[in-house]
Amino acid sequence: MISGYRVLARKYRPTALGDLVGQDLLVQTLAQAIHHNRLPHAFLLHGIRGVGKTTTARIMARVLNCLNNNTETGKLIDACGHCASCKSLADDRHLDVIEIDAASRTGVDDVREIIDSSRYKAVTGHYKIFIIDEVHMLSKSAFNALLKTLEEPPPHVKFIFATTEIRKIPDTILSRCMRFDLKRIEPKLLVDYLKKIAGLEGFVLEEEAAFSLARAADGSMRDGLSLLDQAIALSFTDNGSDSISAQTVYSMLGLANRQRLFTLLKVVLEGQTDLTLQHTRELLHEGADAQLLLQDILDVLYGLICLKTVPQFQQDGFWSQADRDAGLQLTNPLAVSTLLSMWQALLNALQEVKVAPVPSQALELALLRMCYLVDLPPLENLIQSFKGARSKDVPSAPSQPPSQALQHLMAAAPVPPVVQPEAQVNKSIVDLPASFTDLVECISKLREPMLYSQLLQDADCISYQPGEMTLYLKPHTAASFLPTLKQVLQNLTHQSWLIHLADQAGKGSLQDQKQDLLNKTQEQALNHPTLQAIQQAFPGSTVQIIN
Ligand SMILES: [Zn+2]
Repeated sequence: MISGYRVLARKYRPTALGDLVGQDLLVQTLAQAIHHNRLPHAFLLHGIRGVGKTTTARIMARVLNCLNNNTETGKLIDACGHCASCKSLADDRHLDVIEIDAASRTGVDDVREIIDSSRYKAVTGHYKIFIIDEVHMLSKSAFNALLKTLEEPPPHVKFIFATTEIRKIPDTILSRCMRFDLKRIEPKLLVDYLKKIAGLEGFVLEEEAAFSLARAADGSMRDGLSLLDQAIALSFTDNGSDSISAQTVYSMLGLANRQRLFTLLKVVLEGQTDLTLQHTRELLHEGADAQLLLQDILDVLYGLICLKTVPQFQQDGFWSQADRDAGLQLTNPLAVSTLLSMWQALLNALQEVKVAPVPSQALELALLRMCYLVDLPPLENLIQSFKGARSKDVPSAPSQPPSQALQHLMAAAPVPPVVQPEAQVNKSIVDLPASFTDLVECISKLREPMLYSQLLQDADCISYQPGEMTLYLKPHTAASFLPTLKQVLQNLTHQSWLIHLADQAGKGSLQDQKQDLLNKTQEQALNHPTLQAIQQAFPGSTVQIIN
């Protein structure tokens, strides 16, 4: 009986406005428009694929053309289902309802054909209805041709456009349509609907299986039903069982077992490195794909963050009650910032897994890094303690070097730039540098490479005390040097500096002094008896001293 089989999406396609799932607003608005006899000549249905645009268009056509309805008096809400018009629509042979797929008929000639046929009155129903699917695919000239008819449409013509890409439709067209945005189907509604349809097909859809299907469908009814079709087909082979198990759906969708995913995440969040490695390897060994597994973990982590931060999510239908309970328990001891850092780090890890020669290794290491991440004090605490230390004027450097775990964190996740590096440098040297060498050292930390190089090479410090100094500048020193130095010192220390210029050179610039020292060392080395003995033993050899 395979020839008689109809896919679920077609078999259970709604035929009345009231049967549309999850589009309450649309149904209400449309019913009102009909009731008050304020029906425009053109409707535009917009929404993601599989959300029910074509179905809605057909229902609208049924309602508008039902012979037992009278749109002139506003006496209708739904189609009767048994008049000549309703029957011929159900059999896809209505002469007055013309469906066009703009994806395959994009040209101006196709539109002209529509315009020509719109001149003739409806044969069976009240209206000649043109349903144009994927209307955004029409060419520019086709839109222009259509626009003329839309501006002055014959009274017996209605257009119903459907599109997934509203931005590609010219404003001139948009402004002449009554627009409906079809929502993604709410997960909870989708779960209930899938269960209902499975029931009608004689199957029991397990709760977790329904949630997994709904998540995979991502708000699209058609996708949800197609997936259910597959799941039913797979469940037939299970020794005549009439239940669709979560396990069947997991393996069909290539997902890791949800419970085990939670267990893995639990040991990661508890920082148990050995168990993390063990569970990850078990899942990989059982055939889970490293990249998909990581995506699943990211998905769960996203849900955990929502659970923790958005109270409404605790009633949201995206997760089953069991998942929500388990999730709340998992995230209880953790700070939101830690979870966010983990998410960000795992997102980076996803790239690593994609390029790694052995993706499973990248995944294992990424999860091990996470184990260290949860050990850390929450970022907000760190910032708070950092601020506290500052306000008490405690020396700026942290008392301990960053822990190994913190280094892991830094490597793994770009921590939000809470403390600006420049501000950090500025504040850390509020105490004036004690010597000229210290001052040059401070400037080396700023992003002033030119000034730093001039200070090293061209400035000869004759005398120095914090806030005041005398410099001898080499003749070729750039004129901008002195004002720049003053400005930078002022910014750095929040006070103005007195800088005198000397006529006579002193000990030389820091660079010169360093060079002198090097020369002296070299000279001493060359005069060393051992070296001289070597040179005598190997006549003609040269000695090079590496700095
Ligand atoms: Zn009817």
